[in-house]
Amino acid sequence: MEPLNPSSPLLSSPMTDAAASTIAAISTPAGVGGIAVVRLSGPDALRIADSVWHGRRLSEVASHTAHLGEIIDSDGSMLDQAVATVFAAGRSFTGEATVEFSVHGSKWIQNRVVSRLIEAGASPAKAGEFTLRAVRNGRIDLAQAEGIADMIAASSKAAQRLAATQMKGTFSRHLDSLRQQMVDMASLLELELDFSEEDVEFADRSHLASLCDTAIAQIDSLAATFKAGKALKEGVATVIAGRPNAGKSTLLNLLLGDDKAIVSDIPGTTRDVIEDTAEINGILFRFIDTAGLRDTSDSIEQIGVDRARRQISAADILLWVIDPTDPEGVTPQLVEFADTLRSLPHLPHSLLLFNKSDLGAAASSESESAKTASSDGENLSIAVPESAQTKLPKGESLSIDLSAIPRISISAADGSGIDRLTAQLTTLAEEGCDPAADIIVTNLRHYEALRLTSDALHRVADLLPTDLPSDLIAQDLREATHYLGTITGAITPADLLQTIFSRFCIGK
Ligand code: GDP
Repeated sequence: MEPLNPSSPLLSSPMTDAAASTIAAISTPAGVGGIAVVRLSGPDALRIADSVWHGRRLSEVASHTAHLGEIIDSDGSMLDQAVATVFAAGRSFTGEATVEFSVHGSKWIQNRVVSRLIEAGASPAKAGEFTLRAVRNGRIDLAQAEGIADMIAASSKAAQRLAATQMKGTFSRHLDSLRQQMVDMASLLELELDFSEEDVEFADRSHLASLCDTAIAQIDSLAATFKAGKALKEGVATVIAGRPNAGKSTLLNLLLGDDKAIVSDIPGTTRDVIEDTAEINGILFRFIDTAGLRDTSDSIEQIGVDRARRQISAADILLWVIDPTDPEGVTPQLVEFADTLRSLPHLPHSLLLFNKSDLGAAASSESESAKTASSDGENLSIAVPESAQTKLPKGESLSIDLSAIPRISISAADGSGIDRLTAQLTTLAEEGCDPAADIIVTNLRHYEALRLTSDALHRVADLLPTDLPSDLIAQDLREATHYLGTITGAITPADLLQTIFSRFCIGK
């Protein structure tokens, strides 16, 4: 990657005013460890390092070499025995000369080493400043820097894999090629403008229209991976709901392998929402056990029921637990499920879990419920509110046949059927986004920029067949190119950079 143009807004960011300074910070987590790493980066890094170091002169050693020596305190005493790893300018993460001191992990030593480096001429690094310098010096782009932040935060195999592709720059390269297509289109349009007085139509508008359609399709298919990509990165919100006593808490404990929720046969025991995470087949699930949904006069329980409804509205996956041993039977529980779906603004993926199969009632009642569902006249098919029909043209209605929702017979008590459940959960989590695919959007900022790009390109597509002069169309095209460019930082307002890097920790 080329270093940024000196007129780039990146260089005018308030965070880079001290760009010529040498910065220092602890780069390992806060707390006591066997060792800790203190990083020093900037034009004076080697001189400052040598001024506190007793051992080989670090300014004279080869890049990427490690040296045992002593850090000397201001009174001349040994502060710590340490290993200094040296990276030459142009060959380090930040692009600047860098020394990383591996010191003993006492909090006092870590802090004292940083203070000592500051006394010797370094400045304390601001949040994300090492990474910001890496971006500014063209070592990585903005999307890759965000990939690093995601890598540091990765809490599952899927999240790590998504972060790794972003960090390696695969996503950025794809965006760059899309952006190049748009730049090419803009120059074709501008040609038309240059020669318009000679009445020569250089830009064949139908060719441009087809280029535009291709670009829209590519941008939209990237944007379409966001919902699942975000869930894979942050954890798939999986809400467990159903009547009191259906076995929701027992199921939660089974999925977590932990006695987190209180299990009791007194209906209404889970009064609030209990949430915890578990990694299943490499994917992080956030399991949320809700209060049983029932009409209640207990005001505290009612708060729990309201919270449960809010959780269901935000769920990626809804597990509806049915208790076939309930004296009222299965049908009212299916009706409650249908009512709940009907009330939602967006439909989550759903699974119907027929619990307590160990009691022998689940399997038969499951098939009985299927019969009931088709013979009670209602067929339990539900009409979805218009607000939920995001993908349907206005006015068209969608009805969902409950018999199409997967049903799994389980026993939360003895674990039978759980393998089928976890396999289904994995399939649903990955729907719309193959985690092995190269490019998946996981960052809201990127998603919003893609939507804006797509909107601007749609305007271009609408205008191309008209007689509108090409300079007016070119304006929308430039806008599309601008929005796409904000993702990798090719075009990035300083305040945006400030926001992005302030979310990093100090030392990153
Ligand atoms: P919740 O109110 O939906 O959270 O239900 P709980 O998990 O507290 O369970 C209610 C009662 O049903 C408890 O006595 C559980 O031991 C029992 N239970 C839950 N799952 C099963 C199951 O699969 N089989 C049997 N036999 N009992 C279960």
